[in-house]
Amino acid sequence: MSYADHPLMEKVKEAKEVLWLNPQYESADVHKIADLTIENIIEAEERLKRFAPYIEATFPETKETKGIIESPLKEIGKMKSLMEKNSNCPIKGNLLLKCDSHLPISGSIKARGGIYEVLKHAEDLALSEGLLSYESDYSILKEDRFKEFFSRYKIAVGSTGNLGLSIGIMSAALGFKVYVHMSADARQWKKDLLRRKGVNVIEYESDYSKAVEEGRMQSNMDPLSYFVDDENSKALFMGYSVAALRLANQLKDMGIEVDEDHPLFVYLPCGVGGGPGGVTFGLKQIYGPNVHCFFAEPTHAPCMLLGMMTGLHDKISVQDIGLDNITEADGLAVGRPSGFVGKIMEAILSGIFTIEDNKLYKYLSMLADSENIFIEPSAAAGFDGPAWLMSSPEGKEYIDSMNLHSKMDNACHIVWATGGSMVPDTIMMSYYHKGKSIR
Ligand SMILES: *Cc1c(COP(=O)(O)O)cnc(C)c1O
Repeated sequence: MSYADHPLMEKVKEAKEVLWLNPQYESADVHKIADLTIENIIEAEERLKRFAPYIEATFPETKETKGIIESPLKEIGKMKSLMEKNSNCPIKGNLLLKCDSHLPISGSIKARGGIYEVLKHAEDLALSEGLLSYESDYSILKEDRFKEFFSRYKIAVGSTGNLGLSIGIMSAALGFKVYVHMSADARQWKKDLLRRKGVNVIEYESDYSKAVEEGRMQSNMDPLSYFVDDENSKALFMGYSVAALRLANQLKDMGIEVDEDHPLFVYLPCGVGGGPGGVTFGLKQIYGPNVHCFFAEPTHAPCMLLGMMTGLHDKISVQDIGLDNITEADGLAVGRPSGFVGKIMEAILSGIFTIEDNKLYKYLSMLADSENIFIEPSAAAGFDGPAWLMSSPEGKEYIDSMNLHSKMDNACHIVWATGGSMVPDTIMMSYYHKGKSIR
């Protein structure tokens, strides 16, 4: 069968909303994938703990968490009622929001992977130079001698915006020279903010893939330059995966069980795949078959859906099937998925759904009205998850095939809100009013 014959392909090509169930999903435990295990996640968490004294000393907003970059997990009962009223579809179980929109330092899920990779690189350099040991108090990294040391090195990245913010802010704080290659989708305020922090911003008129390609090429010509490779980086992936350990603790603290009788559903906005992929990998390590992860993508940029559905991964782009990759969800405006992540997801991702841009704004304003929480459009992509599961034929098929029917009253749904707190007020207000105007 040619990939063009896939039953969902016509709808995907026409930019219609779909829910794709992953036929390769294995509901059994999958503990070791691509040589990565829970040990790698713990190692990443340990590294973040070593850096906590430095983070705390450098970014006052992390004082309360003692330098640990973490976001709240909130029950959003009023939003749930509003969603049920608007869609006429009851959501069984409770609804929670993972507020990565409010992660300290850079206000998006990229504050996990992006910052982690910069810290790891800084640590590698300082260790190999003998300036640091694992036992050091890492707050010494604030000292001028370290800034001067790091200023000999460059860090580069290609980004639609938020990864650039995370890499840019962290690298600049440590003293690195930073180059952020921004795609055309990147919002002006993100570029302005980075330039104010002394980051070199290079702008492209084409999309994310081109910004990454150019950034990678320029960086590779300079032996002192390190390229953060969003499409292929294991370090980024592991940085994201630490979220799972933290989430498990938060659920425990809230008294929410996840086991055979209490399924957990998680809905994650997906761009190139590293963020949602890392979180999914971590959650599967912890909860095995009792967690069900779904990605959400814009109807005009369903790159991971296309890559996984066809099995072609990074060998296919949304442009190849005639889609334009133009979406208001700038954080998700990616035409070609990470092949590395897609392959890891083959056995552990339950499915992927797509969502129209208008609905992102609608959910954004609903969340503001009901819970007084403000997130960016990309971050609202997961909100269609519960409705897909509860009321579509595909959702019902999933629930039946997993034998979940009798357990849905005990379910917990987590919508992963991936960004928003850095958006300037006037721009956020325009998003909000746009959402209010959509019926
Ligand atoms: C980057 C981003 C995502 C998705 O992460 P990927 O690693 O690109 O899949 C989701 N939401 C927001 C707001 C983002 O910036």
